[in-house]
Amino acid sequence: MNVQPDLEFIKSLKLAGGDTLKKCYQCATCSVACPLSTDDKPFPRKEMIWSQWGMKENLVADPDVFLCHACGDCTEMCPRGAKPGEVLGAIRSYAYTFYGWPSGLAKLATSAKNLPVLIGIPSIIILVLWFLSGAMHVPSVEHFASHGYQQFFGTWDFRWYAKNIFFIVLFMVPAAGLAVFSVFMGITKMWKEMTKRAGIKSAFRPSIVQFFQMFLWPTLVETMQHNRFRECTVNTDRVKGHLPLVLAFIGLFIVTCWSLLKNDVLGLFWTSLHGPLPLIDPFKILANVSAIALLYGIWILWSNRKDLEAKGRATPTFYDWFLIWEILAVGVTGVGAELLRWAGLPIFGYIVYFMHLVAVMMLFLYMPYTKFAHIVYRTTAMCFEKYRESGFAKQ
Ligand code: SF4
Ligand code: SF4
Repeated sequence: MNVQPDLEFIKSLKLAGGDTLKKCYQCATCSVACPLSTDDKPFPRKEMIWSQWGMKENLVADPDVFLCHACGDCTEMCPRGAKPGEVLGAIRSYAYTFYGWPSGLAKLATSAKNLPVLIGIPSIIILVLWFLSGAMHVPSVEHFASHGYQQFFGTWDFRWYAKNIFFIVLFMVPAAGLAVFSVFMGITKMWKEMTKRAGIKSAFRPSIVQFFQMFLWPTLVETMQHNRFRECTVNTDRVKGHLPLVLAFIGLFIVTCWSLLKNDVLGLFWTSLHGPLPLIDPFKILANVSAIALLYGIWILWSNRKDLEAKGRATPTFYDWFLIWEILAVGVTGVGAELLRWAGLPIFGYIVYFMHLVAVMMLFLYMPYTKFAHIVYRTTAMCFEKYRESGFAKQ
């Protein structure tokens, strides 16, 4: 076997937190320690040697890399301090850029040096739209008390569709659309690569219904129950932070869907539905509870990450911190904007609300290239794991 190491790939892994990968001497303790590793498909020992040899093609098409949930059990047990859990995290970070579309935007989201551009893109888009809307001014205290942020982009006489919603849809929907398309391109390419590498040539394919019933639904149930997370032994705090975060995103997703339905569909017929939700509205309560869960979850993950770095069990990387900062920014600005509305402070309220819009747009726009992407790539890998063991792949 003639190995041609991809030196650039090795360098990027070292920069993304895999700086210890050359320490590995292949004892396989990590594969024994990993609670997810199986007898017939062990990991992460093989990923360590592939990383040392720069075998990029093997690693980006390896479902085990995405199945790892970064518990750190292997890192704790490694006699050489090679931090295999961190190396797998670096490979995932590389894979999100590798599969990301468009590649320019994917590369931009990999470095802290690009933060001014990453924040600048949504800020300029929203500022230009705010200017074009003709509503670029701070409202009076009375107006702010009665309308909140519902007329941030102004108002018009066209009763079928509120101006504020029109402008928010104008930048949020393309950002979310780009993220969905990018993710679709990424997981399609990833599935093809994994199928090719696993040598699956079956002519029998599951229908969409079969795929959902046999692979996707069991994966979603398993994810919601956090079963694999609970198998972790050294870093149990992560599940305490990860679970409220997942539930918070589901809660906020439900509220966003309801808001779209209420304003963009039902609001066309009953214009009284436009306007801020009262505090006792069930969806408002769900939004507030989700925001608190989001802040609580991210605080746990923040403390956990800091603790691991202080003990030398994790390497600080932009890849890990960018998502934490982004989620924190969404939570703090969201709750802050609401508190400032209650306090009746329109100037600060509008500034914080603007920052909230920027933070949410950043979350959508860069989702396919940051750690957030593991929601879809990990789900795809878990589905593939079930698929490769099924009759479809073994035919
Ligand atoms: S990463 Fe550590 S535990 Fe795993 S094979 Fe290498 S030296 Fe052994
Ligand atoms: S970090 Fe945890 S899940 Fe990932 S390879 Fe190591 S032991 Fe396994």
